[in-house]
Amino acid sequence: MENKKYDAAIIGCGLSGANIARRLSQYAVKIAILEKEQDVSFGVSKANSGIIHGGFHHNKKYLKTQLEIQGNALFDQLKQELDFPFKRCGIIVAALQKDEMKTLEQLFQQGMENGAPGIELCSRERILSLEPKLSPQAVGGLYAPNGGITEPYRFVFALVESAVKNGADLYTNFSVQKAQLINGFWQIQASDNRQIAAQYVVNAAGLFADEVSALFGGEKFSIKARKGEYFLLDKQTKAKPKRIVFPAPTPISKGMLVIPTAEGTVLIGPTADDTDDKKDRATSAKQLEQILEAGKTMIPELNPADVITAFAGLRPYLGEDFYIEPSKTAPRFIQVAGIQSPGLTASPAIGEYVKNLLKEMGLTLPKKPEWNPFVPPRPRARECSPEELDQLIALDPAWGNIVCRCEKVSEAEILQALQLGHSTLDGIKYFTRAQMGRCQGGFCSYKIIKIILRETGLSYQEITKQGGKSYILPAAL
Ligand SMILES: Cc1cc2nc3c(=O)[nH]c(=O)nc-3n(C[C@H](O)[C@H](O)[C@H](O)COP(=O)(O)OP(=O)(O)OC[C@H]3O[C@@H](n4cnc5c(N)ncnc54)[C@H](O)[C@@H]3O)c2cc1C
Repeated sequence: MENKKYDAAIIGCGLSGANIARRLSQYAVKIAILEKEQDVSFGVSKANSGIIHGGFHHNKKYLKTQLEIQGNALFDQLKQELDFPFKRCGIIVAALQKDEMKTLEQLFQQGMENGAPGIELCSRERILSLEPKLSPQAVGGLYAPNGGITEPYRFVFALVESAVKNGADLYTNFSVQKAQLINGFWQIQASDNRQIAAQYVVNAAGLFADEVSALFGGEKFSIKARKGEYFLLDKQTKAKPKRIVFPAPTPISKGMLVIPTAEGTVLIGPTADDTDDKKDRATSAKQLEQILEAGKTMIPELNPADVITAFAGLRPYLGEDFYIEPSKTAPRFIQVAGIQSPGLTASPAIGEYVKNLLKEMGLTLPKKPEWNPFVPPRPRARECSPEELDQLIALDPAWGNIVCRCEKVSEAEILQALQLGHSTLDGIKYFTRAQMGRCQGGFCSYKIIKIILRETGLSYQEITKQGGKSYILPAAL
């Protein structure tokens, strides 16, 4: 049984844990990242809208708003340092009826008070020129040019790659089940009996932060799951807006959105419904009909024929605000819980905030002169010119074998994913986009499985969609 000692252990590797780990990897401290799933970003962070919010939806009295504004501002530098997609395409909020302009005026005022850069209240003409796909019924709108879009799992992958390059240890399939404080160190045990020790612990366990808190004798609270369902539209859709389109919000929801994703597809949704089951990611035809109807009021060209798949994500809901504090009952234990929207936007600032909390609690953080912020962007076949692709093929013929035709993903990219530890079908999908296009893996899944078999030595039975027992071919052979 291993019992390596760390200065800090981070439980959970979604957007929160990954940003905390990468921030801490800048210092000469030993860090362990403990993740119960087979890959990182397989929790809440894998299924969301991917929006870098504009800082106008919530009052600045909330910690989440302050971290949203700070987090948004950090994305340009992160994009320069790391390999993940990010575009500041801007956000518009459309008023389709005159009385909705009152709500937008309040949002504008709130955005101004929060310091949202460049926020603008728009006439009908202005909003239609900013978003030509918008319904001609629009009477005006709000424009936040600093809003943007990313792929959350690619962001997590890049952060973790950077943290690990800079010395952090990543433990996957490490489901924390027991904790005991012995001689100033938390002894942390996984369900398979692996064990590590750490002086400080950060609880960034998403939907399960309540259970992890209980294991350490931390505060008692209960995380609820709030489901959001989506439709994904094909890249060829005529209903692709230039910017993220929100309706005027209601007191309970930001409403149903139309989102041009970072890779050219279109997302519509999400719904917001409480569920008692933290694993319930089912979608329903009834909800999806409502999503489409709501989307059409803003972007009339939306067409059900463009839908390629549906999926759902679960928000870890605890209350109105994030709960990021040192525990009052468990020593050297920080709660990072209830990180619902805008958790993606805020996540780089959550990293900074938690780093500062650890420092205040007594963790010494000497600078690490050899810290390297860069994970250079890798080539992607779909982004290469024919000449660039020829050059890559000359170096490695695997670039010439296009495995996923819909998203133009080469064998070389699948191999890179495997080398970086993304060995499930979903891990490869999130890293490369293979299986994410029009055919949703109908054409390429078996080719990817054959590459996994060849490269990893796994048997047919061992290949999973997302780790655990999600076997693809349990009865094969
Ligand atoms: C439908 C929806 C839409 C959203 N849209 C946006 C948006 O557009 N913009 C935005 O800013 N935010 C958005 N969010 C919010 C954002 O997705 C979350 O705030 C963020 O993903 C939370 O990340 P996390 O790291 O805290 O949690 P998670 O990603 O869930 O990470 C926690 C990790 O802990 C692991 N874990 C749990 N228990 C254990 C254990 N015992 N041992 C080890 N590991 C454990 C889990 O496996 C998981 O990987 C949205 C959320 C949803 C659901």
